[in-house]
Amino acid sequence: MILDGKKIASDIRGEIRDEVARYKLQSGISPVLAAVIVGEDPASKIYVANKEKACREVGIESRVLQLPASTGTSDLVRVIEQLNDDVGVHGILVQRPLPTGCEESMILDVIVPCKDVDAFHPENVGLVSQGRPRFLPCTPYGIQELLFRYGIETAGQHVVIIGRSDIVGKPMGLMLLQKTKVGNATITITHSHTKELALLTKQADILIAAIGIPKFVTADMVKRGAVVIDVGINRLPNGKICGDVDFDNIEPIASAITPVPGGVGPLTVTMLLLNTLTAAKLNTK
Ligand code: NAD
Repeated sequence: MILDGKKIASDIRGEIRDEVARYKLQSGISPVLAAVIVGEDPASKIYVANKEKACREVGIESRVLQLPASTGTSDLVRVIEQLNDDVGVHGILVQRPLPTGCEESMILDVIVPCKDVDAFHPENVGLVSQGRPRFLPCTPYGIQELLFRYGIETAGQHVVIIGRSDIVGKPMGLMLLQKTKVGNATITITHSHTKELALLTKQADILIAAIGIPKFVTADMVKRGAVVIDVGINRLPNGKICGDVDFDNIEPIASAITPVPGGVGPLTVTMLLLNTLTAAKLNTK
């Protein structure tokens, strides 16, 4: 079975659109997302443009603050503090990567936790790890929704994650570990120092790949009948997008698999919209 992330994302966006309309009617407030982009990185510009478009489609207002590449940490901190204080802004995101002159962790720590729709602030990371999230990080949240809406059981399943980033691997492991409806899994998180990687991935009932290397996961690393979730987004020299999983050779042996594109990607942006709606409700309480 091919897990159609685009279709699930479209379903969830429909639900968000309805809820935004209902919320506006009830409160008179339009949710507002502010996106800060520093420098001229073309990929970042595309990501932010996609987020803006997605916001528009569900009735969320977006504001983009484009800052020059020369912006330093203290200038960026000041911009974020202004957004923190602006009662008309409900969610704040800082598009990464930031230019070398900006200290990323310091910047992300300044975003007030109740507007931190990417869930990168240490307070929000802590709440996720304790199983009482304010916001869930968008990519792992999208994967949970995908598993849930396809009725894929996680309780008691062995989930093996390749990659330990703060944005995908680590929070994914923490979330699937919780005593929640898409949780109660047994988790193995692997990374670049893991020995005998294939021995571990072969044991996975659910294998989640977030590495950033095209077709890194080959068929001999996957158990027959496993569910395979491909988070990778890699641009090939021919301009095409490719995942971290060798889709063509794994699809015949997996029970379910996400394609790239059209798998996890559309869900990530969708969960950002949901987090922005949640932020609007939190900040206007
Ligand atoms: P990252 O570079 O921060 O982390 C990569 C991880 O892969 C590291 O933890 C590293 O230890 C691990 N790794 C590298 N080589 C390895 C090896 N040989 N064996 C085992 N592990 C190895 O990347 P990230 O931010 O987590 O992103 C991973 C991929 O997912 C990228 O392609 C990125 O573009 C993509 N991504 C997609 C979405 C989405 O919405 N679909 C969101 C975030 C990231």
